[in-house]
Amino acid sequence: MKVRFKRVRTVLILLVVLAIGAFAALRVPAVQDWLFVQGVKRGMAVHADMMPAEGHLKVLLCGTSAPPPSMVRAKACTVVMAGTHVFVVDTGPGSANRLGLWRFPFERIEGVMLTHFHSDHIGDLGEFRMQGWVAGRTAPLPLYGPTGVEELAAGVNRTYAADAAYRAGEHELDAAAAELVAVPFGLADEAQRVKHDASAIIYDKDGLRITAFQVMHEPVYPAVGYRFDYKGRSVVISGDTAVSSNLVRAAKDADLLVHEGQSEAMRQTFAQALAEAGRTKLARVIGQVGNYHVTPVQAAEAANAAKVKLLVFNHMGPIAPDNWLLRQIFARGLADARPASGWTLGYDGMILDLPVGSKEIARRQAG
Ligand SMILES: [Zn+2]
Ligand SMILES: [Zn+2]
Repeated sequence: MKVRFKRVRTVLILLVVLAIGAFAALRVPAVQDWLFVQGVKRGMAVHADMMPAEGHLKVLLCGTSAPPPSMVRAKACTVVMAGTHVFVVDTGPGSANRLGLWRFPFERIEGVMLTHFHSDHIGDLGEFRMQGWVAGRTAPLPLYGPTGVEELAAGVNRTYAADAAYRAGEHELDAAAAELVAVPFGLADEAQRVKHDASAIIYDKDGLRITAFQVMHEPVYPAVGYRFDYKGRSVVISGDTAVSSNLVRAAKDADLLVHEGQSEAMRQTFAQALAEAGRTKLARVIGQVGNYHVTPVQAAEAANAAKVKLLVFNHMGPIAPDNWLLRQIFARGLADARPASGWTLGYDGMILDLPVGSKEIARRQAG
């Protein structure tokens, strides 16, 4: 018994000495530097989920909230990786930071596609332009969009001209490669506005076909969604839209529909609460936004009509459903509109992996 007690005491003393030693070592600059280097090395190892992969259509949600602030969500942003191709649909504020934290390879982005020109979809264009450039992109970044995207690209290039010149000088980079180059595809005629049935194939290469199609975000016009078809698998991104027959047509039989949703119940209650608190201007804005968005149930009805396999909500509002109570309000009616296996609420960092040659939609979390 006495021998055992002595052993325990010796082990405890050793542990205390070790802890004191480790604490002292952590205060030595050389040890701090070594630990820092180990952290950098681990941080630089890009996780496979952040890389495109042959034979996979992968979707990464890099922003899932509507304009009001959220602690855990950036504004609209969706990465689509099809085989070796990488595209980003919308660059809402905060989304580049999200991707940076997951060590996303910005230099691999082949193009950014905009659904429309509301600030919550374009706010981080300057960051996407710069991050890919300093990480190794050697040509301007293509910016796809309906008519009007030329003016936007020119404006962003003007805004960041000084930034490009500074960094080009400091780091021996080609300033021209820092720019955005507009790739307009029309879908903005007045006749098309009335008919609301236009679409255009804007990319067709290596088994990847990308189709832009009109959605209904009036009075905001033009506004489009995108469909990606890759070797038998497909994803559709709604952009911002009210009920749209063209979206249902474009989303026909898609594996995955990433769709916006604005809770009408939450919107009315929110607007009323704002008005009662004396925030009348903001209350009026919130009261009006329902006119050009869909409710979650309407999004589910569109998914049903198009026979989509999985509906994933993004651009959720008016307040992002970041806690149990808000999720209950946001999801009201969905259980009756669509089977539970057919819809889910997206979150920043959600990865949806659709392997070619299967019906599988695997879900994972980034990071
Ligand atoms: Zn919008
Ligand atoms: Zn929006």
